[in-house]
Amino acid sequence: LEVIATAEPTVAEAIRKELADQRGSLKLIASENYATLPTLLAMGTWFSDKYAEGTVGHRFYAGCANVDTIEATAARHAEELFGAQHAYVQPHSGIDANLVAYWTILSHRIELPALEELGVKSANDLSEQDWETLRHRLGDQRLMGMSLDAGGHLTHGFRPNISGKMFHQRSYGTDPATGFIDYDAVRAQVREFKPLILVAGYSAYPRRVNFATMREIADEVGATLMVDMAHFAGLVAGKVFTGDENPVGNAQVVTTTTHKSLRGPRGGMVLVDDEFAADVDRGCPMVLGGPLANMMSAKAVALAQAKTPDFQAYARAIASNAKALAEGFLRRGATLVTGGTDNHIVLVDVATSFGLTGRQAESALLDAGIVTNRNSIPGDPNGAWYTSGIRLGTPALTSRGFDADAFDRVADLICETLNATTAATASNGKPGKAKYEMAEGLTSRVHDEAHEL
Ligand code: PLP
Repeated sequence: LEVIATAEPTVAEAIRKELADQRGSLKLIASENYATLPTLLAMGTWFSDKYAEGTVGHRFYAGCANVDTIEATAARHAEELFGAQHAYVQPHSGIDANLVAYWTILSHRIELPALEELGVKSANDLSEQDWETLRHRLGDQRLMGMSLDAGGHLTHGFRPNISGKMFHQRSYGTDPATGFIDYDAVRAQVREFKPLILVAGYSAYPRRVNFATMREIADEVGATLMVDMAHFAGLVAGKVFTGDENPVGNAQVVTTTTHKSLRGPRGGMVLVDDEFAADVDRGCPMVLGGPLANMMSAKAVALAQAKTPDFQAYARAIASNAKALAEGFLRRGATLVTGGTDNHIVLVDVATSFGLTGRQAESALLDAGIVTNRNSIPGDPNGAWYTSGIRLGTPALTSRGFDADAFDRVADLICETLNATTAATASNGKPGKAKYEMAEGLTSRVHDEAHEL
């Protein structure tokens, strides 16, 4: 930090404060974690200074031998860890991984006529009619993913995201009565819509998914099944999700981030069946520019760590701690979406449980040193900004060694804080801007206890 401060003291100070914030609060954001020291150290090296467009052994720049070593090592670890046929470790983030995956599937499945077939030498010579043919072949493709309010991610076809603009899209939801995926309903929708790509995976669904059934559904209409396991990759790596619940082996294309339950550096990856290998390896230049070699080296380190028995124990603890957290809420009378969890996520319906919007609950908890994020619940009457829920995840605090008893105490602190929070009504009748009032002294007591935990 002293070295950084000589160049820019504000940044050094912000880094110091961030460490204090992250260590001094209860981090329950389901997509966050604490990377290990070897992973953190690998991110900040001179690999950051190297350009290496292309893929292993096939670069558009000289001097890439060391980048080849780290990229091949990361890919080998990913393939061995997940049992994947081929891994592409260049994507800079989850959103990049999904874009690479979509274009991989499109490139593989949509045959565009070569320029020679169209009788021209350059794209500059294509007629309006030729452009219309090309546009139509690429632009009329169909994608179906889980809706945002049921727990899907915005890259799964949400209108404001590029995935909702690239594809003609529709979404499937969850059973309104139970909150669970209704596979018969998904099958009926898929039969009717006939997507080219069926996306499974989620950001805020607190249950396991049967990917073997999703593959059967996709196969019925010749769709490619793509699973985005960004959130639960750690549970797959740690062998908590196996067989029908393992996306690898059931889906042809699997994408992930590396920084959530997998506990690696920020970044993404795509795992594919061999038939897609050549196409995914064109991720750069298809979608990406030069890969971040420092981040790929950190991915290799984290993936090597994820292959250990210690990581498997960690993954099991993520899931058992989530159960303890959910049971802690249920015992104290709170309402949970789907009535519980069997992954790493607990989605609390704070409107029903505490008469608050997600936004009010989120800010009351933050004041008490408990960091969460507000989240829509299925059919949310408060919309995506105010919301009616908060999403909690166990990966980060499990990295800090919290056990079931500690998570029960976390549920207690959250319930105590939210029970003492009163939502005032805003003058325009809307919920969000309303100030909440908490019982005198509670904030600092919860803060202190959270700190002790
Ligand atoms: N896919 C899923 C399921 C996610 O939950 C997220 C992030 O929250 C992403 C993709 C995007 O990841 P990133 O933020 O690294 O682009």
